[in-house]
Amino acid sequence: MAIWIKEPQKFRSENASVYADIESLTAFAVTTAETIIKGPFPGNLSAEEAGAVAAAAALFEADMVKAKTVAMANNTGPYDFRKAGAVKIADLSNWYGLDKAITALLPANYPTDKAIWVNPKDYFTNLTEIIASHPKVAVQGYLLLRALDALQGSITTEPSSRSEGRWKTCLEYLDTSQKFTVGRFFVGATYSETLRQYVDKMAANILVEMKESLLPSLPWLQPEEKARAVKKVDDIVVNVGYPASLSPSSSSANVNGTTSFLDTRNPESLAAYYRDLNITSTSSFFSNVLSARRHNLYQTFSLVLRPADRHLLGAGRYPPQFVNAAFNSADNTMHLFSSLTQSPNLSQDLPGYAAYGGYGSTIGHELFHGFDTNGRLVDESHAFTSWWSEGTVAEYSRRAECFVKQYDGYTYPVPGPDSVPGNSSSGSFGNSTGNSNSNSNSTNTSTAKVNGAATLAENLSDAGGVRVAYETWRRTQSVTKDANLPGLEKFTHAQLFFMFYAKTWCDSYSPERNAMTAPLDNHAVGAWRIKGVLANSRAFREVWGCKAEPVCELY
Ligand SMILES: [Zn+2]
Repeated sequence: MAIWIKEPQKFRSENASVYADIESLTAFAVTTAETIIKGPFPGNLSAEEAGAVAAAAALFEADMVKAKTVAMANNTGPYDFRKAGAVKIADLSNWYGLDKAITALLPANYPTDKAIWVNPKDYFTNLTEIIASHPKVAVQGYLLLRALDALQGSITTEPSSRSEGRWKTCLEYLDTSQKFTVGRFFVGATYSETLRQYVDKMAANILVEMKESLLPSLPWLQPEEKARAVKKVDDIVVNVGYPASLSPSSSSANVNGTTSFLDTRNPESLAAYYRDLNITSTSSFFSNVLSARRHNLYQTFSLVLRPADRHLLGAGRYPPQFVNAAFNSADNTMHLFSSLTQSPNLSQDLPGYAAYGGYGSTIGHELFHGFDTNGRLVDESHAFTSWWSEGTVAEYSRRAECFVKQYDGYTYPVPGPDSVPGNSSSGSFGNSTGNSNSNSNSTNTSTAKVNGAATLAENLSDAGGVRVAYETWRRTQSVTKDANLPGLEKFTHAQLFFMFYAKTWCDSYSPERNAMTAPLDNHAVGAWRIKGVLANSRAFREVWGCKAEPVCELY
């Protein structure tokens, strides 16, 4: 298994606007200085020294946030594995000793001349410059503050109690220290073999629809490319529910000496996995927390010695309660964690239009990651290659460009002095929903634009996902007709399919929250994952009687 080095997923403040201007940054540094003085920060700093460390760290972090925002916005093309990859651990030394940190975490017998993957690569180029342009105390202070953030909650002998109750805090600690053990009980309490088979069947139906109907119908894909695309779909391994590695390749490569690596249902397998975890009733809470963190890190890094196991849900990194679904285009595997297949998201008792409109579209979305801007560059034997003709690529790009322009025209509310003028021709969901609290009468809401290029892969997957789920559901209706839902009889089942799709992304976030998360997310904000997708859906237009043609069509 390869090592991927990614940009930071989290910063100290969850509110990105903290990093946006010097005034809020100063306020943030003042709070941090108080933490430093009160907390177990090394060196017994005076108030003045603490203020200087906090200010330097805040400026350094603000530059990192900026670099990440820029790197995410520029990370628009397909991953170029060849360019982003070919870096040796030893070559990382100009990143402030990052090579030493990584080498220390890796298993001793891992070769240091092995290539690692770096993505987004712009971020790390910029990081080198950022580190060089800040004083050492800024970087030191930042690293110590991050460690403090992560650990200070565990320093007291009693886990801090929250308003929700002490049990929730304890469960959170258990979920990070023994996530697969928690997973075992989560699966036991919430999952059934019937549900697992039901999801498996949904995914199988969707894959059949993709092979037999959707791929052959694409006007821009050549016949021999269609045949290879069908083979690629045939090759997909769908992992459903919980990690249970039973493939022969994983058991023979086992380094734990057990017969199977990480079977969430199996207590012996879990005991072997956590064998080196040292948690005792005589140790302090803090040292137990440290021990659990060390064990998790060790287990994650030890995965690099294993051959990738295509049959292991989440590649052995994520537990069944991980709230997500995923597609790994590098080895052509789909991962459908049991977390998302719970009520109210999915149940085997739902009518088909609800199941396929909601979770079926999610399965379809993951499937289309195999054919998005990155996935299309991996062929049916997992080789990274351009396997389409120039003409096909040109037509794909032309159609994809339409999606870029379409989503570029969408906006979302963020904090600010006033709405951006001249944006009324494209949709701003604050205004178009008829919400009486819309931007027009607010002086502190502005709008930001969706980045059509940075969100392209997700938008294409959304579009393809809904289409394949819809067509799969239609096919199931020729065998058994769905039941009506009480109170919703005035809608056709096809209309309800799209209402259940919309429900998946129906959310409401504050402008502050949008400003914080949207620029760092490669998904468009929820409202446009609904409206953008449906503006492109031919079927949606038919069943709701819309006259206009779809804005963009690819899959
Ligand atoms: Zn996705």
